[in-house]
Amino acid sequence: MASKLRFKVVDDAFKKRPVEVKTPVERPSEYFGKFVFDKQKMFKYLPAKVYAKMCDVIDNGAPFDRKIADAVAEGMKRWAIDLGVTHYTHWFQPLTEGTAEKHDGFVEHDGKGGMVEEFEGKILVQQEPDASSFPSGGIRSTFEARGYSAWDPTSPVFIIGDTLMIPTIFISYTGEALDYKAPLKKSLYAVDKAATAVSQYFYPDVKKVITNLGWEQEYFLVDESLYTARPDLVMTGRTLMGHDSAKNQQMDDHYFGSIPERVENFMRDIEIHALELGIPCKTRHNEVAPNQFELAPIYEECNLAVDHNMLMMSIMKRVARKHGFRCILHEKPFKGVNGSGKHNNWSLCTDTGVLLHAPGKTQMENLRFVTFIVETLKAVYDHNGLLKAAISSATNAHRLGANEAPPAIISSFLGRTVSDLLEHVEKSSDDDILAVAGKTTMQLDIPSIPEILIDNTDRNRTSPFAFTGNRFEFRAVGSEANCASAMLALNTAVAEALTNFKERVDVLIEKGEAKESAILKVVRDDIKYIKPIHFDGNGYSEEWKEEAAKRGLDCETSCPLIYDRYLDENTIKMFESQKVMTKFELQARNEIKWETYTKKIQIEARIFGDLCMNHIIPVVTKYQSTLIDNVHKIKEIFPEEKYQKISANNLHLIEQISEHESFIVENVEKMVEARKKANRIESEREKAIAYHDNVAPYLEKIRYHVDKLEEVVDDELWPLPKYRELLFIR
Ligand code: ADP
Ligand code: MG
Repeated sequence: MASKLRFKVVDDAFKKRPVEVKTPVERPSEYFGKFVFDKQKMFKYLPAKVYAKMCDVIDNGAPFDRKIADAVAEGMKRWAIDLGVTHYTHWFQPLTEGTAEKHDGFVEHDGKGGMVEEFEGKILVQQEPDASSFPSGGIRSTFEARGYSAWDPTSPVFIIGDTLMIPTIFISYTGEALDYKAPLKKSLYAVDKAATAVSQYFYPDVKKVITNLGWEQEYFLVDESLYTARPDLVMTGRTLMGHDSAKNQQMDDHYFGSIPERVENFMRDIEIHALELGIPCKTRHNEVAPNQFELAPIYEECNLAVDHNMLMMSIMKRVARKHGFRCILHEKPFKGVNGSGKHNNWSLCTDTGVLLHAPGKTQMENLRFVTFIVETLKAVYDHNGLLKAAISSATNAHRLGANEAPPAIISSFLGRTVSDLLEHVEKSSDDDILAVAGKTTMQLDIPSIPEILIDNTDRNRTSPFAFTGNRFEFRAVGSEANCASAMLALNTAVAEALTNFKERVDVLIEKGEAKESAILKVVRDDIKYIKPIHFDGNGYSEEWKEEAAKRGLDCETSCPLIYDRYLDENTIKMFESQKVMTKFELQARNEIKWETYTKKIQIEARIFGDLCMNHIIPVVTKYQSTLIDNVHKIKEIFPEEKYQKISANNLHLIEQISEHESFIVENVEKMVEARKKANRIESEREKAIAYHDNVAPYLEKIRYHVDKLEEVVDDELWPLPKYRELLFIR
């Protein structure tokens, strides 16, 4: 882009433009769920018996009876047609991140030369998307039978534009999961089973345990015209070059500052869209970095929350364009300012109450609280490497390990109050327990914690997995990721810990121990066992890295190697014993993870090389020629010693530019060679490692020189919008 064009683009971007804002006349409570086939609509559009069966499926996890499929499909169709809908699609979450859909019309021939709208139960329940191009890690090679999508009746169908969207799982003909939803649902079932069994020690009436997820989505907004002038942002989601803006986040003035009007309009608009789709948006604010914002709904059941997050991300991207913005979900779009994450607030809750909450009414409730905290930590400890793998990606790697939440080591923060409580329980003596065992009024001597204290625990921002009052906050999740990846690993690990906990308690009970003391004994053992994962200090410090290694926590930082944790013996055992995934599925998914990693770095390296060679170098050479001309002219008109003095600065600059230039040219060539060499590697794992070790480092090395040039080359010539232009919406 010639410089004049850059200035025009920047100029246009900074001109305030009127945008069309969706302004509903109703209140949010009135349009909430307008485009969702929820229970209210089911009640209206389904026969009474069918409605009752659907409620049983949604509320109690009863299996869906295919006999009612036609009636459900008919009701859905009538509701959708009333709202002007003409098409339907199975909506699923392939392993590429993002979502996939293929639209079909309701219309069919009526046999009399006309058309009729039809939607049969069998189409609602199952479809075969022509999806041979979705990654399957070798499970479903293209010449084999295709995979199919199957309706998930626990996540309601909804309408986008003229299309009825049907949330589905996506599996191969042989039953292996090709998506995130299928294993997520299995993991939720596993936690439910294991946690219900443990809850029944405390509350015999508990029938079900629900996993909740409340996500907080961070994102950047960039003016659309500036965005389109940055090929790196367009193609990779991040800027591969760009010198720090003189002012970025050092003043902390963006965080909780007032929201610019254009952005506020955008936020209002996405919230309306979200509320209409049943996503309970609640919070919006500025984030730490300039142009960075956050949005958080009220927490929901985990499967639904994941769907809602996927949906929200696509709404954000779509609506942003209407407002002249691009919504950037990449974890690290700009160097030198904070990246974006997606905190996953996770909790367990029975059909009668919350499990990670400390009401402190009875000793047994306190013991329940301690049990669930400790067993969650045990899950995180036993599988800390896997949990890191579950949140790792080529894009999130830029965020992990940098001094912004979270570090590349998984540990858990509990806060002073809960830490003291665990210490107290650990130190209680066997005599105390035995003395009270068997009595109806127990005196377990577990101090209760006032709710207010828990809510005010010192909020450690440097911990990747922090207890925050009534939930754990998994902060290491990337902003672009599907939450399901992290959630299904965590759920399965917790299910395993709880299953194992119950087995050990039952053994003691069988030996004649009273239930309460049996629980307490196992909990005390586990409090000792989990110590290495419990860390309340500063997760960013260098000392922590050393300490964590001593504690035996996973400290690997190379993304392709982190993925190895998916194939560790204890990971496979965990997923198989909890019936969430098989070894074969895990292997196939890892192939995809490595392949995706490679592709991301490959694309970055290609775009970066192109930008260097045909955007940066030509402009730099041109500027250098101007300087050389100038030096020649000075020489012509001035005597030697004067010339030396006047031209010193320019001569130095000419030399400096040459050095940067030759470094860039030489290393772009080397990077291309490294890429070619890596491309010849057969194994996906080895290829990803080669990209990580031998290709990716060039991006940073070369960038340094490009950014230095940006500082010295005439601003009028510089071809790409700069950080100071990209990062400040006016
Ligand atoms: P902060 O930014 O201080 O972490 P926010 O209010 O932005 O807090 O977000 C908190 C998130 O946690 C919200 O999505 C909220 O619904 C969710 N949340 C609150 N309580 C629970 C809970 N018991 N289980 C799961 N999520 C919860
Ligand atoms: Mg948070």
